[in-house]
Amino acid sequence: MDILTLNSKEKLGCIMCDKCCIYRGDIRLTPLNVCKISKFLNLSIKEFLKEYTDRLENNKLELVLKTKGNLKQCILYDEKNKKCGIHPVKPMQCVMFPLVPENLKRDYFYNSGECKMEEFKEIKVKKWLNGNNNIYSKNKKICMEWIEFLEYIQPKLENISKEKLEECYEILFENYDFKKVNLKNQMRNNIKTVIDIVK
Ligand code: SF4
Ligand code: SF4
Repeated sequence: MDILTLNSKEKLGCIMCDKCCIYRGDIRLTPLNVCKISKFLNLSIKEFLKEYTDRLENNKLELVLKTKGNLKQCILYDEKNKKCGIHPVKPMQCVMFPLVPENLKRDYFYNSGECKMEEFKEIKVKKWLNGNNNIYSKNKKICMEWIEFLEYIQPKLENISKEKLEECYEILFENYDFKKVNLKNQMRNNIKTVIDIVK
C-alpha cells in the first residue's frame, strides 16, 4: 500500500458512475456539515436532521446520511442529474474518495482502489482533494477537531442519562444561528459547552 501525501501524484478522476454513492449508510457528518448542507438545501437544521440523517447506534453523538432503496444509495444522490446533490458542501469522506486517510493529521492517504481507472490522468493529491473550492483545506482543521472531540467524549458518555445525552446532541447539532457568520466558531463553542456538561 503506497502512502500518498498532498504532493504525491496519482491517477484520479471521475466518470460520474455513482459507485461511491451506493452501499452507503456510513457517510458521517460533522455539525458543520449539518449546517452547510441544511443551508444548501434551504432547510432548517431540524428538517434536515429528520429527513436526511440517522444516528449511529453504537457511536453516540455520531450522525450518518440516510440511504434509499435496495442498493442503499445515499439519500443525497441526485438521480436526475446523475451526480452528488450536494457536491459543493459534501462531507469529508466523499471529498476524499477513493482516497482514505491513513493519518489525517499528517495528510497521509492511501488509494482504496475502489475507483481506479487506467484512463484517469495523474494529478496531485492536493488538487483532487480541494477541487474548485478548496473544500479540503478549508475544512480539514475543524474535521480534526471533531474527531478529537469524539475520541475524548465517547468514553464519558457511557454513564450519562438519556436526557443529558439528548441535550448534548441538540447543542452540538442544532444550536446554530445562520445569521451569524462564523459557523465554525459556533461549533467550537458548542463543543466546549458539551464538554462542560459531561465532565
Ligand atoms: S469518484 Fe469514482 S466511483 Fe465515484 S462517481 Fe466518480 S468515478 Fe464513480
Ligand atoms: S454526499 Fe454526495 S458524494 Fe457523498 S455519498 Fe452522498 S451523494 Fe455521494
